[in-house]
Amino acid sequence: MPHQTTPTSNADPVALICEAIRDRQRFVISSHSRPDGDSIGSQLAMAYALRALGKDVEVVNQDAAPSALMAFPGVRSVLVADRVDGQFDAAIIMECSELKRTGVEGLDQYFVINIDHHPGNANYGAVNWFDGGAAACAEMVFDVIRALGVPLSLEIATHIYVGILTDTGSFHYSSISSRTFDICRQLVDAGVEPPKVARSIFDSNTLGRLKLFGAVLSSIELEDDGRLAIVCVDRAMAAAAGGTYDDTEGLINLPLTVREIQAAVFFKEIAKHDYRVSMRSKGDIDLCAVAKKFGGGGHKNASGCSVTGRYHEVRARVVREVIAAIAHGSPSEEEPSAAL
Ligand code: AMP
Ligand code: MN
Repeated sequence: MPHQTTPTSNADPVALICEAIRDRQRFVISSHSRPDGDSIGSQLAMAYALRALGKDVEVVNQDAAPSALMAFPGVRSVLVADRVDGQFDAAIIMECSELKRTGVEGLDQYFVINIDHHPGNANYGAVNWFDGGAAACAEMVFDVIRALGVPLSLEIATHIYVGILTDTGSFHYSSISSRTFDICRQLVDAGVEPPKVARSIFDSNTLGRLKLFGAVLSSIELEDDGRLAIVCVDRAMAAAAGGTYDDTEGLINLPLTVREIQAAVFFKEIAKHDYRVSMRSKGDIDLCAVAKKFGGGGHKNASGCSVTGRYHEVRARVVREVIAAIAHGSPSEEEPSAAL
């Protein structure tokens, strides 16, 4: 293994990360604001692995974990803060193409280890590992944990599986590879029960959330000859349905269950003239490129951004770009092939 702690072009980033970890004792682990399943899964798998090595670990995010993840081990102990100033030897940042995506101030005062799979990662760490071919950051964390020689405990394996299950849209996106299944095979061998994890994440709705889904989906609009679905929600709609404003998490994935719909855009009003935009697509339709045009980012099949302006103007600007992306991307097959 190379004896250095800064990356060089031909150094193995996993070996460098392992060395940086072995040399240090106190870690803070952060991920992007509004953390998702891959953020939480990657962070907690790493936290359990580091603690197994006798390290001191604090997991800090700007926002709380999604409520559907609260039942998983260690999630309730994640700290919510927008600044860290503790005595840490290193900050491990996962899932962030830029350090400011954490929304947490103070992380740059530590030795930064950057582990990410989002296209356009800015290499902001003292050690950087970017792998755009990973279906989830949790796949990368799996490799680091294996290289550290930490056994796959049930907690670690479960969190890696949570990251992969959620970041592949329940094994739907084109980012999935044989590596994904090879890792999942090892996770199942370590005791993960996929139906149990899936039920815990996806079947934990409240009735208010289900009714809110109904209200939002019944006002779905179609564009581009039915290839593009538009959904939107504001606080009044959420309150009328009896759900909370956070209950819209995951709603964006439902329009794509319609065969003809190739892409979906979800506008959520955050404040007057301020919209959070979530986008999903099938096949080669590149929504990361669309999100980047609005200062956001993400992946080809799942991306997001924030856009300001009046609703009809914001909608028109985003829809124009998504329709262009649909025209460029080859739509997924209309019919499954007979061989399937
Ligand atoms: P969401 O629709 O919020 O679930 O986000 C889908 C994907 O896009 C996730 O991988 C996010 O990390 C990414 N993403 C969302 N918003 C942004 C943003 N403003 N900047 C960069 N990436 C984003
Ligand atoms: Mn991810």
